[in-house]
Amino acid sequence: MAAPLLNIEDARERVLQATAPLASEDVAVGEALGRVLAEDLRAAHDVPGFANSAMDGFAVRSGAAGRELVVVGESRAGRPAHLPLAEGEAIRISTGAMLPDGADAVLQQELVADHGERITLQEEVEPGRNVREPGEDLRAGDEVLTAGTRLGPASLGVAVNAGRASLLCAPRPRVAVLATGDELRPAGAPLGPGQVHDSNRVTLTALARRDGAQVVLAHDVPDNAGATREAIAEGLDAADLVLLSGGVSVGPHDHVKPALAALGVEERFWRVALRPGKPTWFGVRDGTLVFGLPGNPVSAMVTFLLFARPALAALQGAEPLAGGCAVLGEEIRCHPDRDECVRVRLEHGRAFATGPQGSHVLRSMALADGLVVIPRGEGRSLAAGTEVELIAV
Ligand code: AMP
Ligand code: MG
Repeated sequence: MAAPLLNIEDARERVLQATAPLASEDVAVGEALGRVLAEDLRAAHDVPGFANSAMDGFAVRSGAAGRELVVVGESRAGRPAHLPLAEGEAIRISTGAMLPDGADAVLQQELVADHGERITLQEEVEPGRNVREPGEDLRAGDEVLTAGTRLGPASLGVAVNAGRASLLCAPRPRVAVLATGDELRPAGAPLGPGQVHDSNRVTLTALARRDGAQVVLAHDVPDNAGATREAIAEGLDAADLVLLSGGVSVGPHDHVKPALAALGVEERFWRVALRPGKPTWFGVRDGTLVFGLPGNPVSAMVTFLLFARPALAALQGAEPLAGGCAVLGEEIRCHPDRDECVRVRLEHGRAFATGPQGSHVLRSMALADGLVVIPRGEGRSLAAGTEVELIAV
Protein backbone atom coordinates (compact mmCIF):
# COMPACT_ATOMS: atom_id res chain seq x y z
CA MET A 1 0.00 0.00 0.00
CA ALA A 2 1.25 3.51 -0.82
CA ALA A 3 2.41 5.69 2.08
CA PRO A 4 -0.31 8.03 3.39
CA LEU A 5 -0.23 11.46 1.77
CA LEU A 6 1.38 14.33 3.63
CA ASN A 7 -0.66 17.29 4.95
CA ILE A 8 -0.09 20.72 3.47
CA GLU A 9 1.33 22.01 6.78
CA ASP A 10 3.69 19.05 7.22
CA ALA A 11 4.94 19.44 3.65
CA ARG A 12 5.56 23.16 4.19
CA GLU A 13 7.34 22.37 7.46
CA ARG A 14 9.72 20.06 5.59
CA VAL A 15 10.44 22.83 3.11
CA LEU A 16 11.20 25.32 5.86
CA GLN A 17 13.41 22.82 7.70
CA ALA A 18 15.53 22.50 4.56
CA THR A 19 15.78 26.26 3.96
CA ALA A 20 18.44 28.55 5.44
CA PRO A 21 18.63 32.31 4.80
CA LEU A 22 21.17 33.35 2.15
CA ALA A 23 24.16 35.47 3.26
CA SER A 24 23.26 39.15 3.16
CA GLU A 25 24.93 41.86 1.08
CA ASP A 26 25.20 45.65 0.95
CA VAL A 27 22.84 47.26 -1.56
CA ALA A 28 22.74 50.93 -2.61
CA VAL A 29 19.51 52.38 -1.28
CA GLY A 30 18.43 53.41 -4.78
CA GLU A 31 18.68 49.78 -5.92
CA ALA A 32 17.00 48.18 -2.93
CA LEU A 33 13.34 48.32 -3.96
CA GLY A 34 11.73 44.94 -3.25
CA ARG A 35 14.73 43.64 -1.30
CA VAL A 36 14.34 42.25 2.19
CA LEU A 37 16.20 44.19 4.88
CA ALA A 38 18.72 42.06 6.79
CA GLU A 39 19.45 44.50 9.63
CA ASP A 40 17.53 46.54 12.19
CA LEU A 41 17.91 50.14 11.12
CA ARG A 42 18.29 53.05 13.54
CA ALA A 43 18.11 56.75 12.78
CA ALA A 44 21.57 58.35 12.86
CA HIS A 45 20.07 61.73 13.77
CA ASP A 46 16.80 63.53 14.36
CA VAL A 47 14.58 64.12 11.36
CA PRO A 48 13.87 66.96 10.86
CA GLY A 49 17.34 67.83 12.08
CA PHE A 50 16.39 71.44 12.93
CA ALA A 51 13.27 73.45 13.75
CA ASN A 52 11.81 74.70 10.48
CA SER A 53 8.80 76.35 8.99
CA ALA A 54 5.70 74.51 7.79
CA MET A 55 4.61 77.54 5.75
CA ASP A 56 5.82 80.36 3.57
CA GLY A 57 5.51 83.45 5.76
CA PHE A 58 7.38 85.29 8.52
CA ALA A 59 9.34 83.97 11.47
CA VAL A 60 8.33 86.00 14.51
CA ARG A 61 8.08 85.97 18.27
CA SER A 62 4.70 84.78 19.50
CA GLY A 63 2.36 87.54 20.68
CA ALA A 64 -0.69 89.68 20.02
CA ALA A 65 -2.36 90.53 16.73
CA GLY A 66 -1.82 93.91 15.11
CA ARG A 67 1.92 94.18 15.81
CA GLU A 68 4.01 95.98 13.24
CA LEU A 69 7.45 94.40 12.71
CA VAL A 70 10.58 95.30 10.74
CA VAL A 71 11.73 92.67 8.23
CA VAL A 72 15.46 92.19 8.90
CA GLY A 73 16.35 89.22 6.70
CA GLU A 74 15.31 86.03 5.02
CA SER A 75 15.62 82.29 5.77
CA ARG A 76 15.31 80.13 2.66
CA ALA A 77 15.41 76.35 2.31
CA GLY A 78 19.06 75.38 2.72
CA ARG A 79 20.10 79.01 3.38
CA PRO A 80 19.39 80.07 6.97
CA ALA A 81 19.17 83.73 8.02
CA HIS A 82 22.48 85.25 9.11
CA LEU A 83 21.20 87.06 12.20
CA PRO A 84 19.03 86.08 15.14
CA LEU A 85 15.69 87.76 15.47
CA ALA A 86 15.17 90.49 18.08
CA GLU A 87 12.09 92.08 19.61
CA GLY A 88 10.10 94.05 17.01
CA GLU A 89 11.60 92.10 14.09
CA ALA A 90 10.46 89.51 11.55
CA ILE A 91 12.38 87.31 9.14
CA ARG A 92 10.86 86.25 5.84
CA ILE A 93 10.84 82.41 5.76
CA SER A 94 10.11 79.63 3.22
CA THR A 95 8.61 76.21 3.88
CA GLY A 96 11.32 73.88 5.22
CA ALA A 97 13.71 76.76 5.98
CA MET A 98 15.45 76.84 9.36
CA LEU A 99 13.65 78.80 12.08
CA PRO A 100 16.00 81.68 13.05
CA ASP A 101 17.26 81.91 16.62
CA GLY A 102 15.02 84.21 18.61
CA ALA A 103 11.85 83.22 16.73
CA ASP A 104 9.35 80.72 18.14
CA ALA A 105 6.59 80.81 15.50
CA VAL A 106 5.77 81.48 11.89
CA LEU A 107 2.78 83.40 10.58
CA GLN A 108 1.83 82.42 7.06
CA GLN A 109 2.01 85.20 4.50
CA GLU A 110 -1.75 85.14 3.87
CA LEU A 111 -2.24 86.51 7.43
CA VAL A 112 0.32 89.29 7.09
CA ALA A 113 -0.04 92.74 5.53
CA ASP A 114 3.27 92.95 3.68
CA HIS A 115 4.65 96.45 3.05
CA GLY A 116 8.14 95.28 2.04
CA GLU A 117 10.38 96.55 4.86
CA ARG A 118 7.58 96.38 7.38
CA ILE A 119 4.73 93.99 8.03
CA THR A 120 1.61 93.96 10.17
CA LEU A 121 0.48 90.69 11.79
CA GLN A 122 -3.25 90.21 11.32
CA GLU A 123 -3.64 87.45 13.91
CA GLU A 124 -2.43 86.58 17.33
CA VAL A 125 0.51 84.14 17.10
CA GLU A 126 0.77 81.36 19.68
CA PRO A 127 4.19 79.82 20.45
CA GLY A 128 5.15 77.01 18.05
CA ARG A 129 2.64 77.98 15.37
CA ASN A 130 3.70 76.53 11.98
CA VAL A 131 6.95 75.24 13.44
CA ARG A 132 8.12 71.68 12.77
CA GLU A 133 10.22 70.58 15.70
CA PRO A 134 13.39 68.46 15.36
CA GLY A 135 12.70 64.71 15.58
CA GLU A 136 9.00 64.92 14.73
CA ASP A 137 9.56 62.30 12.01
CA LEU A 138 12.49 60.24 13.38
CA ARG A 139 14.38 60.47 16.68
CA ALA A 140 18.14 59.82 16.73
CA GLY A 141 18.70 56.20 17.82
CA ASP A 142 15.12 55.07 17.21
CA GLU A 143 14.66 51.76 15.41
CA VAL A 144 12.91 52.81 12.22
CA LEU A 145 12.93 49.60 10.15
CA THR A 146 13.34 45.98 11.25
CA ALA A 147 15.11 43.02 9.64
CA GLY A 148 12.69 41.02 7.51
CA THR A 149 10.90 44.07 6.10
CA ARG A 150 10.40 44.04 2.36
CA LEU A 151 11.54 47.46 1.23
CA GLY A 152 8.93 49.56 -0.53
CA PRO A 153 9.33 53.12 -1.79
CA ALA A 154 8.45 54.70 1.57
CA SER A 155 10.86 52.49 3.57
CA LEU A 156 13.64 53.45 1.16
CA GLY A 157 12.87 57.13 1.81
CA VAL A 158 12.91 56.51 5.57
CA ALA A 159 16.29 54.77 5.22
CA VAL A 160 17.66 57.80 3.40
CA ASN A 161 16.33 60.10 6.13
CA ALA A 162 17.88 57.82 8.74
CA GLY A 163 21.23 58.66 7.18
CA ARG A 164 21.87 55.63 5.00
CA ALA A 165 23.23 55.34 1.47
CA SER A 166 23.28 51.55 1.49
CA LEU A 167 21.48 48.80 3.36
CA LEU A 168 22.28 45.26 4.39
CA CYS A 169 19.80 43.18 2.39
CA ALA A 170 19.11 39.57 1.56
CA PRO A 171 20.27 38.75 -1.96
CA ARG A 172 17.67 37.97 -4.56
CA PRO A 173 17.45 34.15 -4.56
CA ARG A 174 18.55 32.69 -7.89
CA VAL A 175 15.78 30.63 -9.40
CA ALA A 176 15.84 28.22 -12.36
CA VAL A 177 12.55 27.45 -14.09
CA LEU A 178 12.46 24.25 -16.12
CA ALA A 179 9.23 23.30 -17.86
CA THR A 180 9.22 19.69 -19.04
CA GLY A 181 7.03 18.32 -21.82
CA ASP A 182 7.36 17.36 -25.48
CA GLU A 183 4.02 19.08 -26.10
CA LEU A 184 5.23 22.54 -25.04
CA ARG A 185 5.58 25.41 -27.48
CA PRO A 186 6.73 28.91 -26.64
CA ALA A 187 4.26 31.78 -26.25
CA GLY A 188 2.87 32.86 -29.60
CA ALA A 189 4.19 29.87 -31.57
CA PRO A 190 1.73 28.09 -33.90
CA LEU A 191 0.44 24.85 -32.37
CA GLY A 192 0.62 21.47 -34.10
CA PRO A 193 -1.63 18.54 -33.14
CA GLY A 194 -1.50 17.84 -29.42
CA GLN A 195 0.75 20.80 -28.64
CA VAL A 196 0.06 23.43 -25.97
CA HIS A 197 1.56 26.79 -25.16
CA ASP A 198 3.99 26.73 -22.28
CA SER A 199 2.24 28.87 -19.72
CA ASN A 200 4.02 27.42 -16.66
CA ARG A 201 7.38 28.83 -17.64
CA VAL A 202 5.83 32.29 -17.69
CA THR A 203 3.62 31.94 -14.59
CA LEU A 204 6.37 30.36 -12.47
CA THR A 205 8.91 32.95 -13.60
CA ALA A 206 6.46 35.73 -12.75
CA LEU A 207 5.60 34.21 -9.35
CA ALA A 208 9.28 33.85 -8.45
CA ARG A 209 10.13 37.39 -9.53
CA ARG A 210 7.20 38.83 -7.65
CA ASP A 211 8.56 37.21 -4.50
CA GLY A 212 11.95 38.86 -4.91
CA ALA A 213 13.83 36.18 -6.88
CA GLN A 214 16.02 36.65 -9.93
CA VAL A 215 15.26 34.02 -12.54
CA VAL A 216 18.68 33.00 -13.83
CA LEU A 217 17.45 30.49 -16.37
CA ALA A 218 14.08 29.47 -17.75
CA HIS A 219 13.57 26.99 -20.54
CA ASP A 220 11.67 24.00 -21.82
CA VAL A 221 12.93 20.46 -21.47
CA PRO A 222 11.89 17.62 -23.77
CA ASP A 223 10.60 14.38 -22.29
CA ASN A 224 13.75 12.30 -22.45
CA ALA A 225 16.00 11.07 -19.70
CA GLY A 226 19.26 12.63 -20.91
CA ALA A 227 17.88 16.10 -21.62
CA THR A 228 16.01 16.12 -18.30
CA ARG A 229 19.12 15.20 -16.37
CA GLU A 230 21.23 17.78 -18.19
CA ALA A 231 18.73 20.58 -17.64
CA ILE A 232 18.39 19.82 -13.93
CA ALA A 233 22.18 19.65 -13.54
CA GLU A 234 22.43 23.08 -15.13
CA GLY A 235 19.70 24.41 -12.83
CA LEU A 236 21.39 22.98 -9.73
CA ASP A 237 24.65 24.73 -10.66
CA ALA A 238 23.03 28.09 -11.38
CA ALA A 239 20.32 28.46 -8.77
CA ASP A 240 19.43 28.46 -5.08
CA LEU A 241 15.99 27.10 -5.93
CA VAL A 242 14.96 25.00 -8.94
CA LEU A 243 11.34 24.95 -10.10
CA LEU A 244 10.47 22.04 -12.36
CA SER A 245 7.06 21.68 -13.90
CA GLY A 246 5.58 18.45 -15.22
CA GLY A 247 7.17 15.08 -15.78
CA VAL A 248 7.16 14.25 -12.09
CA SER A 249 4.48 11.55 -12.16
CA VAL A 250 5.16 7.91 -12.76
CA GLY A 251 4.27 7.56 -16.45
CA PRO A 252 6.71 6.13 -19.00
CA HIS A 253 7.55 9.69 -20.17
CA ASP A 254 8.09 11.19 -16.74
CA HIS A 255 11.85 11.52 -16.30
CA VAL A 256 12.12 14.04 -13.51
CA LYS A 257 12.29 11.78 -10.47
CA PRO A 258 14.91 9.38 -11.87
CA ALA A 259 17.00 12.37 -13.01
CA LEU A 260 16.81 13.95 -9.55
CA ALA A 261 17.85 10.68 -7.94
CA ALA A 262 20.75 10.27 -10.36
CA LEU A 263 21.94 13.81 -9.59
CA GLY A 264 21.91 13.18 -5.84
CA VAL A 265 18.99 15.43 -4.98
CA GLU A 266 17.66 14.03 -1.71
CA GLU A 267 13.88 13.58 -1.56
CA ARG A 268 12.14 15.33 1.35
CA PHE A 269 8.58 14.68 0.28
CA TRP A 270 6.58 13.24 -2.56
CA ARG A 271 2.84 13.69 -2.88
CA VAL A 272 0.60 15.83 -0.72
CA ALA A 273 -3.02 15.35 0.34
CA LEU A 274 -3.92 18.33 -1.78
CA ARG A 275 -6.11 19.15 -4.73
CA PRO A 276 -4.92 20.40 -7.12
CA GLY A 277 -1.27 19.51 -6.60
CA LYS A 278 -1.09 15.97 -5.25
CA PRO A 279 1.97 14.90 -7.30
CA THR A 280 4.36 17.46 -5.80
CA TRP A 281 7.98 16.56 -5.07
CA PHE A 282 10.51 18.40 -2.95
CA GLY A 283 14.16 17.68 -2.33
CA VAL A 284 17.53 19.24 -1.55
CA ARG A 285 21.11 19.01 -2.74
CA ASP A 286 23.83 20.96 -0.90
CA GLY A 287 21.34 23.58 0.26
CA THR A 288 19.80 24.01 -3.20
CA LEU A 289 16.05 23.50 -3.03
CA VAL A 290 14.31 21.58 -5.80
CA PHE A 291 10.57 21.60 -6.38
CA GLY A 292 9.04 19.12 -8.81
CA LEU A 293 5.69 20.78 -9.39
CA PRO A 294 2.84 19.12 -11.27
CA GLY A 295 2.48 20.17 -14.91
CA ASN A 296 -1.17 21.15 -14.83
CA PRO A 297 -1.12 24.95 -14.91
CA VAL A 298 -3.31 25.55 -11.84
CA SER A 299 -1.51 22.85 -9.85
CA ALA A 300 1.86 24.38 -10.70
CA MET A 301 0.76 27.79 -9.44
CA VAL A 302 -1.03 26.51 -6.34
CA THR A 303 1.91 24.36 -5.25
CA PHE A 304 4.27 27.28 -5.86
CA LEU A 305 2.13 29.45 -3.59
CA LEU A 306 1.87 26.79 -0.86
CA PHE A 307 5.46 25.51 -0.84
CA ALA A 308 7.92 27.50 -2.98
CA ARG A 309 6.71 30.91 -1.86
CA PRO A 310 7.48 30.26 1.84
CA ALA A 311 10.89 28.91 0.78
CA LEU A 312 11.68 32.08 -1.17
CA ALA A 313 10.61 34.16 1.83
CA ALA A 314 12.79 32.09 4.18
CA LEU A 315 15.81 32.32 1.83
CA GLN A 316 15.43 36.10 2.11
CA GLY A 317 14.74 36.08 5.86
CA ALA A 318 11.39 37.73 5.13
CA GLU A 319 8.35 37.64 7.35
CA PRO A 320 5.97 35.01 5.96
CA LEU A 321 3.07 36.56 4.15
CA ALA A 322 0.10 36.94 6.48
CA GLY A 323 -3.09 35.38 5.17
CA GLY A 324 -6.37 37.26 5.28
CA CYS A 325 -9.81 36.07 6.27
CA ALA A 326 -13.01 35.69 4.34
CA VAL A 327 -16.46 34.25 4.77
CA LEU A 328 -17.76 31.70 2.29
CA GLY A 329 -20.49 33.19 0.14
CA GLU A 330 -21.73 29.75 -0.91
CA GLU A 331 -21.64 26.14 0.28
CA ILE A 332 -18.53 24.26 -0.88
CA ARG A 333 -18.37 20.48 -0.83
CA CYS A 334 -15.29 18.82 0.68
CA HIS A 335 -13.11 16.41 -1.27
CA PRO A 336 -13.22 13.00 0.48
CA ASP A 337 -9.49 12.56 1.06
CA ARG A 338 -7.58 15.66 0.00
CA ASP A 339 -7.63 19.28 1.20
CA GLU A 340 -8.76 21.39 -1.70
CA CYS A 341 -7.43 24.81 -2.69
CA VAL A 342 -10.47 26.51 -4.13
CA ARG A 343 -9.81 29.69 -6.12
CA VAL A 344 -12.20 32.37 -4.93
CA ARG A 345 -13.17 35.88 -5.80
CA LEU A 346 -14.35 38.23 -3.10
CA GLU A 347 -17.56 40.20 -3.16
CA HIS A 348 -17.88 42.47 -0.11
CA GLY A 349 -15.71 40.09 1.91
CA ARG A 350 -17.67 36.99 0.83
CA ALA A 351 -15.80 34.31 -1.12
CA PHE A 352 -17.24 32.60 -4.20
CA ALA A 353 -15.52 29.91 -6.30
CA THR A 354 -14.23 31.27 -9.60
CA GLY A 355 -16.22 28.89 -11.80
CA PRO A 356 -14.96 25.45 -12.87
CA GLN A 357 -12.03 24.38 -10.69
CA GLY A 358 -10.24 21.82 -12.91
CA SER A 359 -6.44 21.86 -12.56
CA HIS A 360 -6.19 22.75 -16.26
CA VAL A 361 -8.58 25.74 -15.99
CA LEU A 362 -6.03 28.51 -15.53
CA ARG A 363 -8.72 31.13 -15.83
CA SER A 364 -9.99 30.02 -12.41
CA MET A 365 -6.67 31.32 -11.08
CA ALA A 366 -6.64 34.53 -13.08
CA LEU A 367 -10.06 35.48 -11.71
CA ALA A 368 -9.09 34.72 -8.11
CA ASP A 369 -8.54 37.14 -5.25
CA GLY A 370 -7.22 34.30 -3.12
CA LEU A 371 -7.17 30.60 -2.33
CA VAL A 372 -9.29 28.98 0.35
CA VAL A 373 -8.30 25.60 1.75
CA ILE A 374 -11.39 23.42 2.12
CA PRO A 375 -10.51 20.58 4.52
CA ARG A 376 -11.13 17.05 3.31
CA GLY A 377 -14.07 15.02 4.61
CA GLU A 378 -16.20 12.28 3.10
CA GLY A 379 -19.71 13.58 2.51
CA ARG A 380 -18.99 16.90 4.27
CA SER A 381 -19.30 20.44 3.06
CA LEU A 382 -18.58 23.91 4.41
CA ALA A 383 -21.71 26.02 4.72
CA ALA A 384 -22.10 29.52 3.37
CA GLY A 385 -21.07 31.91 6.16
CA THR A 386 -18.16 29.74 7.37
CA GLU A 387 -15.11 31.84 8.18
CA VAL A 388 -12.07 30.68 6.22
CA GLU A 389 -8.41 31.64 5.84
CA LEU A 390 -7.54 33.32 2.58
CA ILE A 391 -4.16 32.61 0.96
CA ALA A 392 -2.84 35.44 -1.22
CA VAL A 393 -2.48 34.61 -4.91
P1 AMP B 1 2.55 16.36 -16.55
O1 AMP B 1 2.63 16.77 -15.13
O2 AMP B 1 3.84 16.49 -17.27
O3 AMP B 1 1.94 14.99 -16.68
O4 AMP B 1 1.55 17.36 -17.24
C1 AMP B 1 0.19 17.44 -16.84
C2 AMP B 1 -0.60 18.35 -17.72
O5 AMP B 1 -0.08 19.68 -17.65
C3 AMP B 1 -0.57 18.02 -19.19
O6 AMP B 1 -1.85 18.29 -19.73
C4 AMP B 1 0.44 18.96 -19.76
O7 AMP B 1 0.26 19.22 -21.13
C5 AMP B 1 0.22 20.18 -18.93
N1 AMP B 1 1.45 20.95 -18.86
C6 AMP B 1 2.65 20.45 -18.50
N2 AMP B 1 3.58 21.42 -18.54
C7 AMP B 1 2.95 22.55 -18.94
C8 AMP B 1 3.39 23.88 -19.18
N3 AMP B 1 4.67 24.21 -18.99
N4 AMP B 1 2.49 24.79 -19.58
C9 AMP B 1 1.20 24.43 -19.75
N5 AMP B 1 0.73 23.20 -19.54
C10 AMP B 1 1.59 22.25 -19.15
MG1 MG C 1 4.56 16.00 -19.07
